[in-house]
Amino acid sequence: MICSSESGVKKFLEVDAAWKVLSDQTSRRHYDMKRREQELKQDWTVDSTVYLQDMTWDSDECEYTYCCRCGGRFSVSKEEVDGVLVCCDTCSLTIFVALNDNIEMSK
Ligand SMILES: [Zn+2]
Repeated sequence: MICSSESGVKKFLEVDAAWKVLSDQTSRRHYDMKRREQELKQDWTVDSTVYLQDMTWDSDECEYTYCCRCGGRFSVSKEEVDGVLVCCDTCSLTIFVALNDNIEMSK
């Protein structure tokens, strides 16, 4: 009686330990994913939202352009203008280009 319950407890502990390792790996992966998500967000620091009507149409390049405060330029092609992030061509600033006021940055 005692023996069998002891081995039962032992078995339970083994299973429990194995399960803990497994769940550790799962939560670890989850943690890594969360961290990667945050890193991605940091890379995409959005300076401001620019609406298409504030941008300048460049008929030579066939793209919309917008002056960055660094003197550089944001450019986005006509096909891409609906809610995209655009990087400055000289600095690391990013703007969010929206077609109109109805489009918001975060939902
Ligand atoms: Zn810039």
